[in-house]
Amino acid sequence: MNLEYSDEHKAFRDDVCRFLDEKLPEHLTDRGRRGRAPSKAEHEEWHAILHEQGWLAGNWPREFGGAGWDAVQRHIFETETTARGAPRIVPFGVAMLGPVLQKFGSKAQQDHYLPRILDGTDWWCQGYSEPGAGSDLASLRCEAVRDGDHYVVNGQKTWTTLGQYADHIFCLVRTSKEGKPQEGISFLLIDMATPGVEVRPIVLIDGSVEVNEVWFSDVRVPVENLVGEENKGWTYAKYLLTHERTNIAGVGFASAGLAALKRIARAEQDGGRPLAENPHFAARVARVEIDLMAMATTNLRVVSAAAGGQAPGAESSMLKIKGTVIRQEINALAKTAAGPYALPFQSEAVEGTNEEPVGPDYAARVTGQYLNNRKLSIYGGSNEVQRQIIAKTMLGL
Ligand SMILES: Cc1cc2nc3c(=O)[nH]c(=O)nc-3n(C[C@H](O)[C@H](O)[C@H](O)COP(=O)(O)OP(=O)(O)OC[C@H]3O[C@@H](n4cnc5c(N)ncnc54)[C@H](O)[C@@H]3O)c2cc1C
Repeated sequence: MNLEYSDEHKAFRDDVCRFLDEKLPEHLTDRGRRGRAPSKAEHEEWHAILHEQGWLAGNWPREFGGAGWDAVQRHIFETETTARGAPRIVPFGVAMLGPVLQKFGSKAQQDHYLPRILDGTDWWCQGYSEPGAGSDLASLRCEAVRDGDHYVVNGQKTWTTLGQYADHIFCLVRTSKEGKPQEGISFLLIDMATPGVEVRPIVLIDGSVEVNEVWFSDVRVPVENLVGEENKGWTYAKYLLTHERTNIAGVGFASAGLAALKRIARAEQDGGRPLAENPHFAARVARVEIDLMAMATTNLRVVSAAAGGQAPGAESSMLKIKGTVIRQEINALAKTAAGPYALPFQSEAVEGTNEEPVGPDYAARVTGQYLNNRKLSIYGGSNEVQRQIIAKTMLGL
């Protein structure tokens, strides 16, 4: 298998780099370098720049207003943008709901919602998980009961990422208690401004609000907001998850994190010399860099197989585990490198501040990021569950 980019893909990468040189504003990458999560306005700014270029939805076919890129082009774009510290494209509308509506939505749903995802009118969030229904998603209980031309929704969702910014939520709801649990689930689109929807923030260990609880009390949802058929939502939910797990390796994020780690290790002193020259520390950095290079190669192998029409199977579980372990190790090393400067609790660094941080500015968010990124091995399917998948499908255990 040839892992070199073709001439066309090299030319595409040059185009992407030129575009980023010209159009990626410095204040957005500066935010990334400081390890601060983007604000809503910053997300929207980057979204609008990409939309204007026609590059927001690389994964969508051109007929729906996407860029129609192949898997390798999408990989190049994601790697280059994340490595430079650009905000990620919020995935819920573009990467998750868009493909589901394109495959299973009605013409009216496609005509209404898809252009609004592209131009940023609607911000979507994902209402899958509930207390007691995470890895075992099929046991979800949030209920929708048909009442004339509406569904009446009651229940709770949790861990709803960026739900505080969203004006719409796509939800898995229980519409039947008959048969297997998977057979009574439907996929509903809900306007968050509907009476009875309440968003309650969950404050994370690093002081940030990134996830929420969403409560539904007698929320009336028009039946035309049902995607596909009633009780067939499990099929659409699984289709969506195959899209959620693309780019799960996070090569670009890891590369950016590694570059930041090396900057810290060069700046910090150990016994009168840069920490980067300490053989023990340098060996740990080298080990994680070698792991990253090996994973990047595996990632490319999976991507090029997908470009040839093969859907990634258990390989995506392998990439999920390895990618998240590497990023967590980079975070741990950055915390070690920052030493005592990683100790002050600088909650204001989460949202940005004009005040001078305690110690060098690169240290202000190191611990916050370390703590926040414990999530990587949980969301998108926990690493333990990914190991079960590998055990069953690859090892035949
Ligand atoms: C930061 C963050 C953001 C998230 N954002 C969203 C979102 O926007 N929308 C949404 O719907 N959900 C979201 N989630 C939820 C996420 O998908 C779930 O947390 C995840 O699927 C794990 O489910 P759980 O938290 O219920 O843990 P549980 O399923 O209760 O698992 C608890 C522990 O048991 C282990 N375990 C469970 N089953 C098995 C098994 N069969 N074999 C071996 N070990 C097992 C798990 O690995 C874990 O260690 C988010 C989660 C986080 C942490």
